[in-house]
Amino acid sequence: MASHNASRSILVCGFGIVGLTTSIRLLEAGLKVTVVASHLPGDALSARYASSAAGAHHLSFAADHDTRQQALDRRTFDVMWEEEIEGNSSGLMRLTQREFYGNEDEKHVAFFESLPDFKVYTPEDLPVFAKHAVSFTSLTMDPPVYLQRLRSRFQALGGIVHRAHVESLASALSFAQDPIAIVNCTGLGSLELKDVQDKDLFPIRGQVIALNAPWIKEGRTKQVGKLDGGEGGERTYIIPRRSGEVIIGGTREIDDWMPEPRPESSLDIKRRALSLFPELAPESTRAGGRIPAPDDLDSIILREVVGFRPARRTGLRLEHGDDLIIESNTDTRHIPVLHNYGHSGAGWQSCWGCAEEVVKLVKAI
Ligand SMILES: Cc1cc2nc3c(=O)[nH]c(=O)nc-3n(C[C@H](O)[C@H](O)[C@H](O)COP(=O)(O)OP(=O)(O)OC[C@H]3O[C@@H](n4cnc5c(N)ncnc54)[C@H](O)[C@@H]3O)c2cc1C
Repeated sequence: MASHNASRSILVCGFGIVGLTTSIRLLEAGLKVTVVASHLPGDALSARYASSAAGAHHLSFAADHDTRQQALDRRTFDVMWEEEIEGNSSGLMRLTQREFYGNEDEKHVAFFESLPDFKVYTPEDLPVFAKHAVSFTSLTMDPPVYLQRLRSRFQALGGIVHRAHVESLASALSFAQDPIAIVNCTGLGSLELKDVQDKDLFPIRGQVIALNAPWIKEGRTKQVGKLDGGEGGERTYIIPRRSGEVIIGGTREIDDWMPEPRPESSLDIKRRALSLFPELAPESTRAGGRIPAPDDLDSIILREVVGFRPARRTGLRLEHGDDLIIESNTDTRHIPVLHNYGHSGAGWQSCWGCAEEVVKLVKAI
């Protein structure tokens, strides 16, 4: 960090999983961190607070040639793997994950081969609905628990947070004294911030259902269609959480700002989830070998959730952007702006890796 700059204060905008992990790593690096955000951990679920609406599991989408994304995802996996040892308070769970592929020409990403207990299904073991399948040990996250845990850690490290909706990064400066940099972790908020207005950003709407199904202990995903180096194709997923809740999903609607669940999507999710994991339905509904129907899940539904993934046509923005130039009667200040937004459906599984990249960017100022 440049020694000519006496201030060690940093302003972070946004307090989702990305802003929280970034702030914690900056505090640990000895900086004084002030956060400004309109949504905070503990708030009621909101589609615009993607971190609270997420599934969430660690299942990398990184293409085999994308070593940068692989490294971000791997670092996050390793951090969370260690945290999981803390048990219930971690909000994390290690579990067997089974990945099924519906079409002949689809294969798993190479990233999975580096995970514990990786195995490829033999042709005789494949279920009828899959042409290829792998299994390994991965992690799931319980967002409300994990976000609160990070907030406590942030406060214990001396971080300060203000709840405010700002119209620009420049207007957020009123919350921090002479910061050496602003870190932008506003997700989809960067569409509207006047001094960012990133037209490459767009929402990918996701709808999921939370079930009370503590008997489900393994994760399953079925992918139909190619990921195409991102999140292409249709995915059906079952995400058990440590608490006994199980998330079933999902949907991917591009540029769709509908914040409420759609009944037809719920029915489709229940149908797809049951075909992948019939044991989701309570045991009584499966007596005598009966094949469960979507309605059989209704008695264990806890809530239906919608969230907007912060997607970006040109991919994740993790870089030193243009300085903010603040002019007053007496002087002109240049404030470095570091961006960490646009994680689409991968913000949970890459958060710690991205946070550590921001610390490197700050040290290079
Ligand atoms: C249904 C669903 C399932 C998902 N599953 C997974 C998964 O399994 N694995 C995975 O890795 N990811 C998953 N994701 C994606 C993940 O949730 C996102 O990538 C991640 O939450 C993005 O985090 P974020 O902190 O950038 O954004 P957000 O959580 O949206 O936080 C943005 C922050 O910026 C603040 N902000 C924005 N604008 C302003 C403003 N003008 N003024 C003040 N504050 C502002 C907000 O208040 C908030 O605090 C899923 C998402 C959805 C919707």
